[in-house]
Amino acid sequence: MVYFIGAGPGAVDLITVRGQELLKKADVVIYAGSLVNPELLKCTKPECKIYNSASMTLDEIIDVFVREYSPDKILVRLHTGDPSIYGAIKEQMKLLDKHKIPYNVVPGVSSFCGAAAVLNAEYTLPGVSQTVILSRMEGRTPVPPDEDIEKLASHKASMVLFLTTSMLEKLSEKLVKGGYKSDTPAAIVYKATWPEQKIVRTTIAELHKSAKENNITKTALILVGDFLSCEHELSKLYDASFTHEFRKAKEQ
Ligand code: SAH
Repeated sequence: MVYFIGAGPGAVDLITVRGQELLKKADVVIYAGSLVNPELLKCTKPECKIYNSASMTLDEIIDVFVREYSPDKILVRLHTGDPSIYGAIKEQMKLLDKHKIPYNVVPGVSSFCGAAAVLNAEYTLPGVSQTVILSRMEGRTPVPPDEDIEKLASHKASMVLFLTTSMLEKLSEKLVKGGYKSDTPAAIVYKATWPEQKIVRTTIAELHKSAKENNITKTALILVGDFLSCEHELSKLYDASFTHEFRKAKEQ
């Protein structure tokens, strides 16, 4: 079986228990070396074969699985964060299907959750935003025109941008054109949960300048929205006057 495992955002103890148990038993691990913390591999067996996918093509990755596969072996494909977000797992699954190699996915803590944690932030504040938009600026991978940042910005929801740190001037321009005020709070989180993590709180207008001042050019998330600093309403869930499935409202 091939296991696509989410490694989490970086800190070694933010992989799931299931993911770590499989890593311990793995016969082969192909890890995304550009973003997965190599410390995670320390728990593997001495005889485990380890490949770094950073320098491999899709065919080379699949070749390893085809060569190594047998029903009693554990083959691991270790992806950063959660594999379902910009993980390029579907193309691997398609080829594994072709070779009739079974696979399974073990989810992970995505970096957008890691970033919120280190900021003590909540994306879904009552009266501020009840929606999180995860997206990216177009790079070499095209983004469908209907998902242009300008269009997404019109919702003024809480927003997280992956793979965008090298395009911050353009990003700010699009966010403001789309509808956010230029002084809307923003944060740049570099290597969330890694020992070398950096947190920069700024505004949409100052994104580029703030990243430059802090020498951040990659491996960062850009968070945007009023959820980062503002007054908000209290939740209904813990409101004393609110009845729900598990609790009756208290007499006021
Ligand atoms: N599957 C991953 C995302 C992979 S795309 C996840 O769920 O997090 C790679 C991009 O994710 C990077 O360019 C960066 O924008 C972001 N990223 C991944 N790990 C990060 C971390 N620890 N801190 C900040 N950004 C991170």
